[in-house]
Amino acid sequence: MTPTPRTALTIAGSDSGGGAGIQADLRTFFACGVHGMTAITAVTVQNSLGVQGFTEIPPEVVTAQIKAVATDMGVNAAKTGMLATAEIIREVAKTLDEVHIGRSTNVPFVVDPVAASMHGDALLREEALEAIRTELFPRATLITPNLDEVRLLTGVDVTDRESQRHAADVLLEFGSQWVLVKGGHLEEDPDCVDLLSDGVQYIELSGHRYPTKHTHGGGDTLASAITASLAHELGVPDAVAEGKRFIERSVAEGYPLGAGIGPVSPFW
Ligand code: PLP
Repeated sequence: MTPTPRTALTIAGSDSGGGAGIQADLRTFFACGVHGMTAITAVTVQNSLGVQGFTEIPPEVVTAQIKAVATDMGVNAAKTGMLATAEIIREVAKTLDEVHIGRSTNVPFVVDPVAASMHGDALLREEALEAIRTELFPRATLITPNLDEVRLLTGVDVTDRESQRHAADVLLEFGSQWVLVKGGHLEEDPDCVDLLSDGVQYIELSGHRYPTKHTHGGGDTLASAITASLAHELGVPDAVAEGKRFIERSVAEGYPLGAGIGPVSPFW
């Protein structure tokens, strides 16, 4: 019999194209050797050309999924992706407290503040940004915004290392333990530097920029790989370094599928 593996929970949206969202999270959890569990928040209709629309799941069904797995199977680490609405965010926050997931517990919690797809399609209703800042960030062990999300959440425009550091400081004021300001969207930076900080340490993680457009699901895959490493009990800096190794390889192997942007690859 196989011994019971570590477990990770993703609270996120479904991508019918299979490249991002819940589908990316589950295959990353599998590749990283953890048992993946899901609380689905929304069903998107999408393909390589973009998100054609989405329907959110009733908040009580989202929280019932979280409670069902947390109370029976146990959660070693959790993450959020697309949360769709302020009401879902508020209910998820309350439920995480009830099942003892988050920075004040021994179950690490990663918040990937997903706001839009790389095509610019909204994945979050506008009024929900405030709920992410006030309800989720204070409960987070780590938040992982990209530069567009940093601008939406703080108004800070990251253009260089100095403004990236300023953005990290502003984001930490919302109460997460750590922040990873991802630099991947900073086109001028050939090194793709991400900045990880807890307000005391400022750790620059540089990586290689691959000449590919097939990066759909990259953000979800990174956050999931970090979450899996946290489930394996790595500390945050080690888990992020491990996650970065995982996403670099996945981006390097991203493949064309459909007429638009293909996914990062699970095949390596
Ligand atoms: N669809 C869902 C359900 C997602 O969670 C995300 C990102 O988090 C996306 C689409 C967008 O992915 P990308 O920006 O990589 O296209």
